[in-house]
Parts: sequence; structure tokens; C-alpha cells
Amino acid sequence: MRVLGGEPVDIRVEDGLIAEIGPGLTGGAGAEVVDGGGAIALPGLVDLHTHLREPGREDAETVLTGTQAAARGGYTAVHAMANTSPVADTAGVVEQVWRLGREHGHCDVQPVGAVTVGLEGRQLAELGAMADSAAQVRVFSDDGKCVSDAVLMRRALEYVKAFDGVVAQHAQEPRLTEGAQMNEGVVSGRLGLTGWPAVAEEAVIARDCLLAAHVGSRLHVCHVSTAGSVEIIRWAKSKGWNVTAEVTPHHLLLTDDLVEDSPVGAYNPIYKVNPPLRTRADVEALRAALADGTIDVVATDHAPHPVEDKETEWSAAAMGMIGLETALSVVQEAMVDTGLLDWAGVADRMSAAPARIGRLPGHGRPLAAGAPANITLYDPSARTPVDPAAYASKSRNTPYEGMTLPGRVVATFLRGTPTVLEGKLT
Ligand SMILES: [Zn+2]
Repeated sequence: MRVLGGEPVDIRVEDGLIAEIGPGLTGGAGAEVVDGGGAIALPGLVDLHTHLREPGREDAETVLTGTQAAARGGYTAVHAMANTSPVADTAGVVEQVWRLGREHGHCDVQPVGAVTVGLEGRQLAELGAMADSAAQVRVFSDDGKCVSDAVLMRRALEYVKAFDGVVAQHAQEPRLTEGAQMNEGVVSGRLGLTGWPAVAEEAVIARDCLLAAHVGSRLHVCHVSTAGSVEIIRWAKSKGWNVTAEVTPHHLLLTDDLVEDSPVGAYNPIYKVNPPLRTRADVEALRAALADGTIDVVATDHAPHPVEDKETEWSAAAMGMIGLETALSVVQEAMVDTGLLDWAGVADRMSAAPARIGRLPGHGRPLAAGAPANITLYDPSARTPVDPAAYASKSRNTPYEGMTLPGRVVATFLRGTPTVLEGKLT
């Protein structure tokens, strides 16, 4: 295997740690040998933004199936979003999710705590109790909804400072997006669908960057989707403010004209997602921002929905796409094969940076002796037709069906134990 695409080496793993990396290593008596061939070795991927749906929507996904999907995608840790039922807004619920992860997880599961009670945007949730719980929550988000009240957002930012937490904002001005169905632009005008304007995202990001600077706290911006948002985040970073941001794989590849014309027809709700798919110019700006570090992280926003919620008319369909099992391939297509990012860059944006932002010290470390053996082996030369029937996820709402994506996760190791071998769950 080749660490970050470099020279061929062997990796010797002992007691869950990387013991040695170098050419021509032998395992010694009783050693298990996994032949990585020419695969690229990356530090195990970390997702800052996964919807596991348990508790409450086990028909869409469970901790078991969601972490199986994660392992197949090369992930060794995922952050589970708080918009479950009940909402993860107390120490009890985040501990329940954390425990489910320990019992059933094919990767580590780090719960995200809600910012407000019931995601209702009226009253701060028990942030301190969730931070002090067994789950040790550090990321707080009302994702799915925006913390639109500026006073509540300010208080949340102030509160999380005490335990080095971060508020991850789903930036969507609610009044500007009432009834919104897709990106507001030429295509929405032609189709007569209510638009979700870029300014509804950008206005909240600008406000929150200013608030984070004002109180001296950490802000993370979820799923950045517009060129204007990139400009604002670049400006906030240039000021030295503690702002980080993520982009999803689908916003790096797909555009809003798919709603009008696609291989799976017009008005196919498979392309309905929040924030919506934007324009080619937005995609180009997001790719450039991920390449230059303005956007720190690729996060999947893996959002499983059962068939009956997705295969319905556009206006009634649920928003969201699954993404764990295709993320690395989409990033290869959008960023690596285009020459924008090398494998060291991929390791940073999909492992080191999300682990750092989420404060997961056991993940995202460079592959070196002494580090936990969280390792993803990836063959970039494979060409894999997307087949949702083969996915571990309980849901099938992938926008890539019918496409052939580059690359394949060959194996995933969680603290030295394989969770995936030869592309299959162990
Ligand atoms: Zn969101």
C-alpha cells in the first residue's frame, strides 16, 4: 500500500496502534497479513455530519446500518446529528446514542447535541450537561433547522466556550426560504418552483461570523453551498476569527439544472436536498475553496429517507441524500482527478480537520508509529457503477444511481480491527 499515495510500504499494527511503517516488513509468527496491493492508505475518515436516524426513524437508518455504511465508505468515526426523535437535547438522549454506537457501531459514533430544546429555537438545551455526560459532546447543532434567533445564537456561542465546544450552524434564514423547493435562479424560474435564495444562507453566515468574533467563540458552518458564502468565510478567516466550514460531496459535483433535466427524468426528488443543489459557478467556487482551505472539511450530510418519503411528487418529497458510501469516490472525481487536491489534502479535509473540529483525539492522526490504527485502504483506479441495492445503508436515496464513480474502499480498520475487507463488511 502507499501512504497518501507515496512509495509502497507495509504497515505493522499491534494492540490497535500502528507499530511500524516501512518497506518489506514481516509480521512475525501468528501475524495476520492483509495485502493492500497498490491501494492508497489514508487515516480513517471522520464525518462531522451524519444523520443516523436512531432513535425514532429506524425505518430510514439505525446506528448499526448507518455505521456499516460509514465503514464501507472508509469512515472510522461519525458525528450523529441531533434531529432524532426524541431530539438529542439532553444528557440522557446523547448517552443513549453514544451507547448504541459502542454496542452496534462499525465505527465510533460521537453524538451531536441540539442547541435548543426540541430544535424549536426558543430555549437553550442543556449544553453543559451534554458536555459533561459520558458522550462528552463538543459539537452542538440544530441541523435541519437554523438557530435563527441572534440572541440564542450568541448565548450558545458564549456557553460552549466553557468546554471548548463549537456551534455548527445550518445557515438558513427561515423567512427567506418559506416553502422553498430548490435553488432560486434561472431553473427555478423556468420550472415555477419556489426558490431557496443564496442570500438566505449568506446572511446567516455573515451574522454568525460577526457573533463568533464578538464573543470570541468557535463557529462551524454546515454544508456551505454558495460562492457568496465562500467569500464571507474567506473574509472571516482573514480576520483571524475562529470559523470553520464544511461542504458536502454532492455540492462539489451536482447542479440545480438536474431538477429540470437528468438521466432519471425531470422533477426527480432524488435531487431534492437542503441546502439545494446550486449552479455550476457555485460548484467551481466550492471546489476552489476546499482546495485552498477556506472550506476545511468534506462532510457527507448523509440523510437517509425511506422510499415512500422520497419517491413521491417533488413538492411532497423529503429533502436529503445518502452519502457515506460514495463520499470518497465523489471527492476523487471532483477534487483529485481534476488536480485540485492531492491525497494528503484529502486526508486533511476528510480526516484530520473534522477530527480536530469535533475534538476527537483518537482520530485524524497522521499514519505514523504510535498513532491509533484507524486506516482506510482505497483503490483509486477502480471504476464502480453505483448500485444502491449493494449499499449497507437502509435507505436508497443516492443521487448517483446510474453513474460510474471512480475508486473503491478496499478495507477499513478501526483501532487495528478490520470493519471492511475486500470491499465487504467483516
Ligand atoms: Zn443541515
